[in-house]
Amino acid sequence: MKPTLSQNCPLCGAGAVFYFVDYEERKYFKCPHCGKFLVTRRAEPKLAEAPAGWRERFSELAKNPEEGYVLDISVLPPAADGSERTSEELTPEYLRKSDLSL
Ligand SMILES: [Zn+2]
Repeated sequence: MKPTLSQNCPLCGAGAVFYFVDYEERKYFKCPHCGKFLVTRRAEPKLAEAPAGWRERFSELAKNPEEGYVLDISVLPPAADGSERTSEELTPEYLRKSDLSL
């Protein structure tokens, strides 16, 4: 077992636990409210300042993954062509658990 650490859930604020995965690039949270999900180091501080409703939306996504998948919240860099994304953007996507070493 990997050692788990206690931290309030970055999505809902409930008392949660996590451990580091992906060479400490990501935290794998287990929250009594949101279930299990991943957050990258860069995404975590942005969650705290995300617009109203985002954390709730991510929480809903985290609660309802397809079988064998887990939600990963990361930050995409600005689009290289300067068009669509003008700033770093929080991006939720489902990752296949078997591709991760959880
Ligand atoms: Zn939570």
